[in-house]
Amino acid sequence: MILKKSPAEIDRIAAAGVILVRTMNLLAAKVRPGVTTGQLDAAAEKFIRSQGAEPAFKGYRGFPGSICASPNSMIVHGIPGRYKLARGDLLSIDIGVIRNGWVADAARTFAVGPVTPIASKLLRTTEEALFLAVEQCLPGRRLGDVSHVIQRHVEEAGFSIVRTLVGHGIGRSMHEDPQIPNFGAPSTGILLEEGMVFAIEPMVTAGRHGVRVGEDQWAIYSEDGSLAAHFEFTVGITAAGPRILTPWHEASGGRAAA
Ligand code: MG
Repeated sequence: MILKKSPAEIDRIAAAGVILVRTMNLLAAKVRPGVTTGQLDAAAEKFIRSQGAEPAFKGYRGFPGSICASPNSMIVHGIPGRYKLARGDLLSIDIGVIRNGWVADAARTFAVGPVTPIASKLLRTTEEALFLAVEQCLPGRRLGDVSHVIQRHVEEAGFSIVRTLVGHGIGRSMHEDPQIPNFGAPSTGILLEEGMVFAIEPMVTAGRHGVRVGEDQWAIYSEDGSLAAHFEFTVGITAAGPRILTPWHEASGGRAAA
């Protein structure tokens, strides 16, 4: 069952999103060779709590971190810790924030210093796919339209869509219906309606699409060891069009909502 949100409820998710974006910006300024993912996690947790909010991932099904920090061939769900960033790494940072009972979820993959041309194309392509997906978040479109534009853009660039991990509805819970695959056929699936709020998150590998689970039972890696990228927004479908509720692409992090 898809739980639709009123405009006031979407404003509350946006308010969680403002804190999330400020956290992402704080971490963006810290990502450099020599920094550990544990240090990034500690900075994120301290900042989120200082804003009167909670890190949504901490304790979720026993997850120990406040962020997910996933380098290189790790696609998602990396437990932050002793891993020290090196020049040329890619690092996906995924953040969830709960404010007044409403959740926002977003991710961004960073280049640590200069990276190879293929890595930079992977980042650019995955981010572009996310923005194309946002453009499909209009009342009257279908879920398959969202999935399809992601798949088409990524595969045209010669990369692969991870099949076993998907985006999701979001609201009072981090994971609500529907599931949002990053592949699919246009004009299929549920009809999009005003008030739906989605966490859209293309997960892309430079090689094949198979994955494996790490020894800690959390981290998900590309099975062939190829580089991975992950970008995510929480997006509200409104009468005025798509509303990005976690605008990490805007330096200010958006305006605080009521
Ligand atoms: Mg998510």
